[in-house]
Amino acid sequence: MMKLRFLQIAKILAVLTLAVGLSSCASKDKEGADATSGVKLTPNGSYRTASTSGPYLRNKDSGLPYDFSGNQSVSISSGPRSQKYIALTFDDGPNPQHTPRLLDMLKRRNVKATFYVVGRNVAAHPNIVRRTVAEGHEIGNHTWTHRNLKTLSDEMVSWELDKTRDAIISATGVQPRTMRPPYGAMYQNQREWVYRKYGYPTVLWDVDPLDWKKPGPSVVAQRLISGTKNGSILLVHDLHGQSVDAIPQTIDTLLRQGYQFVTVSQLVALRAAQGM
Ligand SMILES: [Zn+2]
Repeated sequence: MMKLRFLQIAKILAVLTLAVGLSSCASKDKEGADATSGVKLTPNGSYRTASTSGPYLRNKDSGLPYDFSGNQSVSISSGPRSQKYIALTFDDGPNPQHTPRLLDMLKRRNVKATFYVVGRNVAAHPNIVRRTVAEGHEIGNHTWTHRNLKTLSDEMVSWELDKTRDAIISATGVQPRTMRPPYGAMYQNQREWVYRKYGYPTVLWDVDPLDWKKPGPSVVAQRLISGTKNGSILLVHDLHGQSVDAIPQTIDTLLRQGYQFVTVSQLVALRAAQGM
């Protein structure tokens, strides 16, 4: 009798825990919750994805070329300062919890970003990287294990880059064309031989909100917005929920300020065309 009652209580607790878990998940993506609130639950097969032509400001297609074969820069941390083109970059993903909802936010605003993915995460979640490419974003090589490249031999650096490149190709069928070293740490001579061997310019950034310290979404957004100028490359990490939460405000404010989002390859091509 006692045992039966205990089982009943355990069952009720399990249901309650599940309900709390579900409601906290749903409240995390405010945009997703808005899109579905008030909608009656329908049988599976009748679900609709959120509209992409909603009340969101949309980034204009720049029409800039992606081909940077004339590029002379071994490493870059910004684009030309003469025009309002900027690049949003997301490091260390893909993350199964945050990257898909980030992709939703970008899609609604027609923003194409550049994702510096960690190879072992690509191998774990190839479907997310496939979706990222299918939606027009660019993928860059951010190594397999995310170690400080200054501490590795050339053979080990090659192993990191090869394994990541191969995982990206097998997930998406496309080649990464630029790389970003973890922590931005890479000797000049390493950048030079990587450029010769792989054709990857080393891509750093000029706006760093230190989002990995988790100061809260509004602080992350404020730092990104106030740090941005013409040609900026913005560094964000899509494995932190707070960082992704900062993105709608960041994009909407920068769009209102007249900035246009492009990919890193487009910024590199623009620099090359201007002889930078
Ligand atoms: Zn990183």
